[in-house]
Amino acid sequence: MATDNVLKRPPLMSLDEALDFVLNDVAVLSSHELVPTFDADGRVLAASLVSQLQVPPHDNSSMDGYALRVEDLTSPGVRLKVTQRIPAGHTGHSLNPGEAARIFTGAPIPSGANAVVMQEDAQVDGTSSVPEVSVSVMPSLGQWIRRSGEDVTRGAEVLARGTRLDPAALGLAASIGVAQVRVVKRPRVALFSTGDELVMPGDVAPHDMRPGAIYNSNRYFLRALLVRAGCEVTDLGIVPDNLKATLQVMKDAASNHDLILTSGGVSVGEEDHVKPAVEALGRLNLWQISMKPGKPFAFGEVHSGDAPSQNKAYFMGLPGNPVSSFVTFQLLVRPFLLALQGVAAARPEPYQLQAHFDFPKPDKRREFLRVKRNHQGGLDLFQNQSSGVLTSLVWGDGVVDNPGSKPIQSGDWVLFYPFAEWLK
Ligand code: AMP
Ligand code: MG
Repeated sequence: MATDNVLKRPPLMSLDEALDFVLNDVAVLSSHELVPTFDADGRVLAASLVSQLQVPPHDNSSMDGYALRVEDLTSPGVRLKVTQRIPAGHTGHSLNPGEAARIFTGAPIPSGANAVVMQEDAQVDGTSSVPEVSVSVMPSLGQWIRRSGEDVTRGAEVLARGTRLDPAALGLAASIGVAQVRVVKRPRVALFSTGDELVMPGDVAPHDMRPGAIYNSNRYFLRALLVRAGCEVTDLGIVPDNLKATLQVMKDAASNHDLILTSGGVSVGEEDHVKPAVEALGRLNLWQISMKPGKPFAFGEVHSGDAPSQNKAYFMGLPGNPVSSFVTFQLLVRPFLLALQGVAAARPEPYQLQAHFDFPKPDKRREFLRVKRNHQGGLDLFQNQSSGVLTSLVWGDGVVDNPGSKPIQSGDWVLFYPFAEWLK
């Protein structure tokens, strides 16, 4: 029987083909909402932000010191009358020849001034009725002046539609006076795990676990990964390994979710009911990818009913093995979820780093090896690369993307994906 299956199986799809397929199939979510900029971390802009003002709004001082006219400093020791004092948040008046202004960081430069001398380079004589200042170091033109618009010019697009907002972007939006941003609604994702062997932590104590039972670890990291990718998650727990239960849960979930994400049950075994359920309720577009770990990955759609008005949810089925599940999430599901929210650069981008390890026996398939950056700027390899070993993900801080059948020698340049970028 097993041989039969092997013979009937079509050639596996490559990861690149699968990702192209998934990203081509995505229709960006069309519902938007206005949220306070304050709460918009991780959200995706549905409309570009254009500045209605210059930032900074005026030429201003970047030092505490004295604003003056460079041309007045004709010889060493020239003294200028300090005729005004300009703290941040106040404006001064025009500077006449022979005058200087006491000025503080952030205060607008008075007209006529063309440089600032920091207070450390100035000597003040306060004995006469109007204090006088002289400088010990000749300033250059424009010194310590921040120019109006050097950060943002009026009319400029500061953040494009499709930008995923991060803390720096929130600050930039606030700097142009934006208190609310129009963002794409969060994708609604229904998540469930399959497998009769699975037990939820907390339901059964470790010493009471029946033989063959394991804890459901995937649910924990998948939910957290979904939240980090900007989703609203409905956790449907564990679905038993039978077709009827799987059909029911899927059909219900399809009515009010954008994506149904499952782990386990997408292989070819008789206990794998996810694939037939998707085929019965919708369509399976692709299934099984030539990668290690992570071969059993499925993508398709599920309909909540037959009428045209029924909702259609995307479906993604991840392998049950925890590392396979994690890696396929990052390489396929996360780009999909970003694209669903309108992010243009949804594909993961690798970096070139040097392997500080040997890997003499590569798999035929493209392989993702758990590694960690060392302090010499290279990569160390985790010893156990098995697809069930979660300690490899915790120890590691990324994966090496190794093409099929390519041995690695220490010193080789390899492609590296840092987990940190996938967890944002
Ligand atoms: P499956 O893809 O259902 O054939 O499962 C492959 C392997 O992953 C089996 O050893 C399962 O016991 C294990 N597995 C499946 N689901 C989970 C899960 N949610 N948490 C931890 N291990 C799992
Ligand atoms: Mg299973």
